[in-house]
Amino acid sequence: MPGLFQQIQAGKLWDFHGGIHPPGRKEQTNQKPIAVLPIPDRLYLPLRQHIGVAGQLLVRVGERVLKGQQLTSAENSMAVPVHAPTSGTVLSITPHTSPHPSALPELTLVLEPDGLDEWRQREPLNFLTCDNMTLLSRIQDSGIAGMGGAGFPTHIKAGLTQPVDYLIINAVECEPYISADDLLMQEAATTIVKGIDILCRLLNPKAVLIGIEDDKPIAAAAMMAACSQREHYYVRLVPTKYPSGGEKQLIQLLTNKEVPNGRRPADIGIVMQNVGTAFAIAQAVLDDHPLLSRIVTVAGDTLNQPQNVLALLGTPVSALLDACGFQSQPQQRVIMGGPMMGFTLPDLSVPVVKTTNCILAPTAQELPAASTEMDCIRCSACADACPASLLPQQLLWYSKAKDSDKLQEYNLADCIECGACAYVCPSEIPLVQYYRVAKADIREQQREALKAEQAKARFETRNARLEQEKQERLQRNQQLAAARQQQQLASGANTAVADALARIKAKQAQAAPAEERSKEQILAERELKKQQAREHQQQKAEQQKAQQQATEQHSEPTEQTATTATTNSKAAAVAAAIARAQAKKAAQAAEQDATEQQLTPAPNTEKSPQAEVSTEADPRKAAIAAAIARAKAKQQAQTEHETGAVPATASTANKPAAGSDVVTAAEDPRKAAVAAALARAKAKKQANAEATEQTAASTPVTPEPDAVVTEDPRKAAITAALARAKARKQADSENS
Ligand code: SF4
Ligand code: SF4
Repeated sequence: MPGLFQQIQAGKLWDFHGGIHPPGRKEQTNQKPIAVLPIPDRLYLPLRQHIGVAGQLLVRVGERVLKGQQLTSAENSMAVPVHAPTSGTVLSITPHTSPHPSALPELTLVLEPDGLDEWRQREPLNFLTCDNMTLLSRIQDSGIAGMGGAGFPTHIKAGLTQPVDYLIINAVECEPYISADDLLMQEAATTIVKGIDILCRLLNPKAVLIGIEDDKPIAAAAMMAACSQREHYYVRLVPTKYPSGGEKQLIQLLTNKEVPNGRRPADIGIVMQNVGTAFAIAQAVLDDHPLLSRIVTVAGDTLNQPQNVLALLGTPVSALLDACGFQSQPQQRVIMGGPMMGFTLPDLSVPVVKTTNCILAPTAQELPAASTEMDCIRCSACADACPASLLPQQLLWYSKAKDSDKLQEYNLADCIECGACAYVCPSEIPLVQYYRVAKADIREQQREALKAEQAKARFETRNARLEQEKQERLQRNQQLAAARQQQQLASGANTAVADALARIKAKQAQAAPAEERSKEQILAERELKKQQAREHQQQKAEQQKAQQQATEQHSEPTEQTATTATTNSKAAAVAAAIARAQAKKAAQAAEQDATEQQLTPAPNTEKSPQAEVSTEADPRKAAIAAAIARAKAKQQAQTEHETGAVPATASTANKPAAGSDVVTAAEDPRKAAVAAALARAKAKKQANAEATEQTAASTPVTPEPDAVVTEDPRKAAITAALARAKARKQADSENS
């Protein structure tokens, strides 16, 4: 039994599960040469036209660019640049409808061609003499990505370091209508083989297998002729069956190898490149011609001239259709890609990109729109047609249920979205659409899970770092403490802590008796202060008594007043306080009374019975009036004494002199008593002032009773109460 390689060399082919045989309809275009379109008015160049990331912009709006000039950089390994397909001016860089089933806007550079088609400087390479890195850089810098439809960066697949057994060139253009690769092989087989040479230089495979469907005899012949001088280049014609051009399916067809789930062909020693990609590599390396254009099949019964065209990247679909005599119909659909895997365009301004291989403008009869979806009848036709040996029916259920776990369990990831299942489904269920949505959901969930995992890893790393720092700190502190202890032990001294504790204890021992002593001192001081207060009060009482006696000696009180002043000092004190409090209020009335008495003739100065009754009823007013009268009499007496008119004697005062206040006061014993009380109060004030001066340092200063009474009646009442208390004390002391 020959080995696998011998079987391959012998031209043996294998088969894959499932597959369908839709009508090819390639005759519309595969008999005509490739047409070169005129340069359109505008080119719309999305900055990302492949699987990966977009490069950084290298040009600005308004800048003129040359043909082949790089518009974006390729700093990231997953980035490939885009180039100016012709010379012209950058009009704008703005979001534009993307050539994607989602039709989401993508950042797009709008170029206005100047018609000169002026090239930048070009530097072809000799791939036989330059190193692999130079070749890979050239491939990346030329913006080459898989042109079979996937758009994977070519330099990554071409730069594999692991051993490669087979390099497979995919020329199986299995989808109906599409004949772009067919025409490319017919017209540029030699260049394609040069591209394969470059790939062999990079990958060094054991054999090159070029797979071509058996419905492309001209292309197959051209390729065989071009490869005739190459050892280990094998052109293999595979049966026409959809989807033979699938990566895993073609590998199985040519090598009988199956790519395990979740693995890549490189894992089993196989690298696959599209025939158009090989052509682009040859152009890039040998001519320094970056990827600026591609062959696009423009087909459909609405076109007068369906054909393959060489279109500049960025050419709007409308320009392609116009060049092929497009006759739009009602409910017209325009599909990018083939009828099996393509998608309907939202509008015709969508540009041609690196992965665009077909624009299909069919009539309604030619390619009817999807009819109403019906329920699954569990016929299993989809499972029979699936080239990936999946269970499309189960995948449909779990897609509708959004059960990601089950979808992954049933290997949704292996679905190549070929559409064979939907093609055979009698219920017209758009199965592929369900799978695309489910795949997008799973990708999003995986992205979220990855982000959560990264966040968790960051959190755990941080915790570990903090814990390590804590342990290091602890260890450091322990080492320092041990070093200190050793040092202290070495010097024979006690520890600082023990010293501090001893000092604290000693302080506490001293503090206790001190506190006891201070309490005793405080009690003694209080007793001393109390004694001083008692002495002070006694002294004040004696002074008041002396003043009272002096006042009594100087005045001539009536018998009643003297008795009252002597025996009832309490009443006197009250009267004094009240008199002080009401002095201000009664001053005006007293003045008025006094004025009236002065102005009124003698008989009238004597108080009427009514007035006497009134005075008796209000002793305060009487006291105030008496005080005022006494003050005036005193003033008058002084004046007369100074002028010598009347001697200020008691005998004079006893004379009944009409119009004299003194006489009036002398005749009224109540007034005289009040005057005596006022005099005592004044004397008391004076004595207080003297006492205050003497004991200012030790005794707190009390406010003047008059001021207090004037300002606040409550304080006046308190002061009066104090006065009463003092008078009581004084009376007690006198009694004792
Ligand atoms: S082909 Fe359609 S109807 Fe039949 S089992 Fe599959 S999904 Fe259901
Ligand atoms: S679209 Fe997916 S499930 Fe359907 S036949 Fe193709 S590979 Fe199988």
